[in-house]
Amino acid sequence: MNVLSTPHGDLVLPAFLPDGTRAAVRTLDAGDVAGCGIGALMVNVLHLSSKPGTSLVAEMGGIHRFMGWEGPIASDSGGFQAFSLATGAKKLGSVSEQGFTYRFDRRQDKKILTPEKCIQKQFQLGSDILFCLDHCTHPEAGADVQRQSVEHTVAWARRCKQEFGRRLELRGEAPGRPRLFAVVQGGEDVALRTECAERLLDIGFDGYGFGGWPIDGQGHLVEMVACVSELVGGAFPKHALGIGKPENLAHAYSFGYHMFDCVLPTRDARHKRLFSFRPGARVSTDGSADFYDCVYMQDRKHARDADPVDPDCDCLCCRKYSRAYLHHLFQIGENCAYRLATIHNLRFYARLLDRLRAGSGG
Ligand SMILES: [Zn+2]
Repeated sequence: MNVLSTPHGDLVLPAFLPDGTRAAVRTLDAGDVAGCGIGALMVNVLHLSSKPGTSLVAEMGGIHRFMGWEGPIASDSGGFQAFSLATGAKKLGSVSEQGFTYRFDRRQDKKILTPEKCIQKQFQLGSDILFCLDHCTHPEAGADVQRQSVEHTVAWARRCKQEFGRRLELRGEAPGRPRLFAVVQGGEDVALRTECAERLLDIGFDGYGFGGWPIDGQGHLVEMVACVSELVGGAFPKHALGIGKPENLAHAYSFGYHMFDCVLPTRDARHKRLFSFRPGARVSTDGSADFYDCVYMQDRKHARDADPVDPDCDCLCCRKYSRAYLHHLFQIGENCAYRLATIHNLRFYARLLDRLRAGSGG
């Protein structure tokens, strides 16, 4: 699986999709993101429904024109966020056969996210890669909850596919066809994961995602990540939702995943934590973090450091500026520091994917 064709061009795989949850990769504009060698973005349908509203985005010509991004855009179903609202301390939602009922705070009226609405909203955005609504669970939830999650996930995926077909008909002759991905749930139970994958494969989707908690208490990938990839097989693109650390991403790639999205590189950049490849090191695909270092820009040792963050990096930050200057910008709280750091971390991820794609690891 080397490429996924979409209405906005071919996405070269494997690909890292930065999270532009609210139609913005924080601190950057679309031109900055493209300049990092990033091929596609991930937006979130639930957040965009709240602000500015998916119908407003449609009025503005769709998500690509709205945010100035010309390449493929994937949209999350919002299921994970609705689940978080429902199970969070404030209990701002609930789940039923119909879908999710939720609100962002108690002053708001309750809204319902059904599988049909989830697809309609993603069509309003004009996404290239759509995700079916799924019912996420906590790994420690009981067997009855895991069973119910699989029943909901499969039934909702079927309804999503039907709605997807209806929307395609209404859309008529437009160039390219968006892709519909389903998400495999089932917690830590191999039999449930197997059943969920088989039932989704029977319905038939363009790609499949790993759903649920991918990381264990020690920060490593759970066994289910490899298991789901094997269940889905090699004929489809596979998305490892929310897998973010470089070593976990490389590890998941070795299990056959092609697409990744996570807030980690952009959030870490804003927390002054940057990534740098160790000179000459090959990328490990066994989960070890021995091929890169974290550079903590607030450390005083960088105050007089004339070197760039990573001497081998070709990003704007490393080409033009020293660690000393970036340290200074962070010290004075200059907004530009957040932009430069985010550009660097996204470029690091794009280079990581280049290395995995080249197969050399180094
Ligand atoms: Zn750089």
